[in-house]
Amino acid sequence: MLQYDVIITGGGMVGASLACALSGQGLRIALIEAIESETRSEAGYDDRAIALSYGTRRIFDGLQLWNSLTSAATPIHRIHVSDRGHFGMVRMDRADEGLPAIGYVVPARAIGQVLADAIKGIEGLDIFCPATVTEVKHTAAAVEVDMSHEGLMTTLSGRLIVAADGADSPLRGQFGIGSVVSDYQQTAIVTNITPQLPHNNIAYERFTASGPLALLPMSEQRCAVVWTVASAQAEAVMALDESDFIAELQSRFGYRLGRLERVGRRQAWPLRLVRAKESVRERLALIGNAVHTLHPIAGQGFNLGARDVAVLAEVLVDALKAGEDPGSLAVLQRYADWQQRDHKNVTVFTDGLARMFSLPLPALGMARSAGMLAFDLLPPAKRLLTRLTMGRSGRTPRLARGLPL
Ligand SMILES: Cc1cc2nc3c(=O)[nH]c(=O)nc-3n(C[C@H](O)[C@H](O)[C@H](O)COP(=O)(O)OP(=O)(O)OC[C@H]3O[C@@H](n4cnc5c(N)ncnc54)[C@H](O)[C@@H]3O)c2cc1C
Repeated sequence: MLQYDVIITGGGMVGASLACALSGQGLRIALIEAIESETRSEAGYDDRAIALSYGTRRIFDGLQLWNSLTSAATPIHRIHVSDRGHFGMVRMDRADEGLPAIGYVVPARAIGQVLADAIKGIEGLDIFCPATVTEVKHTAAAVEVDMSHEGLMTTLSGRLIVAADGADSPLRGQFGIGSVVSDYQQTAIVTNITPQLPHNNIAYERFTASGPLALLPMSEQRCAVVWTVASAQAEAVMALDESDFIAELQSRFGYRLGRLERVGRRQAWPLRLVRAKESVRERLALIGNAVHTLHPIAGQGFNLGARDVAVLAEVLVDALKAGEDPGSLAVLQRYADWQQRDHKNVTVFTDGLARMFSLPLPALGMARSAGMLAFDLLPPAKRLLTRLTMGRSGRTPRLARGLPL
């Protein structure tokens, strides 16, 4: 049986980031990923974009990976939030925070590529891909993981297993941890467009009667579009021909960026909120979408997952230095306690936004406008919103200060 200190299931952005964070500590790590990566595909117009907060940029700094991402990253200088047909408006500016950028828009493919290259060189890390965990047993001192890899059953043993296996987390199920799931009955339609006028590094979030619409600045003057519609309408929107789709977007977004011209391929993502009822057990920690799957309205999912990585890695490394068992509940509970507030704040914030801005009732429209005006006029409230969206709420782990572990 192969022996490890840490077994990570799920090699998505969060699981791979944890492998990077734990590198150089003399640990034996196994990373198990079910699907072979397609990150080798060429960059193209249709790249899916992820908005990284400034806090996540610092975590990538701490992982020594930000330099590899800068050429693919478009900085966000300002966020402009507005409500179609109402008077309220909120602006957030990098100058107010004294930072070079509020965040960055990076193609998910570029993040995947940088992480895939980084994990290949990690000493002490074995990558099993494509491989699937079939069963997990646990004894007092270890977990035993049965895995199907290259058509063979293999058993690994570890002091700790980390579930980074996404919203449906099979590992969460195997440990009998329940989750609270709420279907938003909404679908995010994601594509890229090129507007007539330069985006000037402004991210737009516009609330419309048919759901929130975000335009994020990308390279080559493209904008990434995330348009949330009721799931019942998604099929019809996906079926629109290109010119009708552009006309629908234009009528919702308006002419702030002139005419919307070229549009790319569309993808549809049904949306739900998933919250695991527990984030740790003896020998188990849940991170990323496995513990919280959020509405993408404020672009927080991966940013919160990156903070899980920074916190868990710090807790584990400090425990090892102190001679403690990294899989013990006492150690893992420190991660759970530290991230509890962050999970709650971000979940409540994004869920509240998603629900409030999806209801087209006129009275609510007024409240929204008033709320937005209040936010714009009330520096402390706006500051809190900025801090949350920039990933700077609560105690900051070392990696998020750009420091090594
Ligand atoms: C439309 C949309 C827009 C978004 N925009 C943003 C944004 O702008 N900013 C942001 O921060 N977040 C954004 N998000 C959220 C972000 O994409 C996710 O939070 C993030 O990708 C989660 O990463 P993860 O690694 O936790 O999970 P996943 O990406 O789901 O990875 C889980 C991995 O586990 C593997 N796996 C599953 N089961 C097994 C098994 N049994 N054995 C082995 N491997 C297994 C899977 O193959 C997968 O690779 C957006 C989400 C959506 C839907």
